[in-house]
Amino acid sequence: MRRVLCVGRNYAAHRREMGGDDRDPPFFFAKPADAVVPPGGQVAFPPKTQNLHYEVELVVALGAGGADVSVGRALDLVLGYAVGVDLTRRDLQSAAKDKGQPWEAAKGFDASAPISAIRRWAGAPPQGRIRLSVNDEIRQDAALGEMIWNVAEIIAEASRLWRLEPGDLIFTGTPEGVGPVVRGDRVGGEIDGVGRLVFQLI
Ligand code: MN
Repeated sequence: MRRVLCVGRNYAAHRREMGGDDRDPPFFFAKPADAVVPPGGQVAFPPKTQNLHYEVELVVALGAGGADVSVGRALDLVLGYAVGVDLTRRDLQSAAKDKGQPWEAAKGFDASAPISAIRRWAGAPPQGRIRLSVNDEIRQDAALGEMIWNVAEIIAEASRLWRLEPGDLIFTGTPEGVGPVVRGDRVGGEIDGVGRLVFQLI
């Protein structure tokens, strides 16, 4: 694990639920690599928030690096895919947006990036559905094809901003239906063909 890049507002319906304008393009932010929680069943509820949100996302794991990679060659960098949850202190994010301040405390806190095992994958990216449940009740359910930037476009765009390297992870954005979770909740994320992630907030 080297670096964790994340795409914001990469599904139009989620962009709208967050109050974004339809002309706002997706963008990148980052989490520290030590925010990643490997599959194991439990995630500590973070301090300093009254409004922790789940965001289920397709995660791209890179097995090769490059800079200024073309869209046509971008998928050559992919090692595989995982299911990830971009945990977000929504209250701190809203305050940061209001004040024009950075998002680290809202997005890059300890254990803010639980992921499933990485499924090795070559060729066309996953195209099925992405879902999230809380205590077995479905909260997010969308088609990966709804992404505004597809996987190849995300990798190409990221490689224009940073030199990408093996071990980099890219969270590709969440569909609509984000919402709060509390201590004790059991969160399940699933992507057709990729895998499943389940954890309990403790
Ligand atoms: Mn996200």
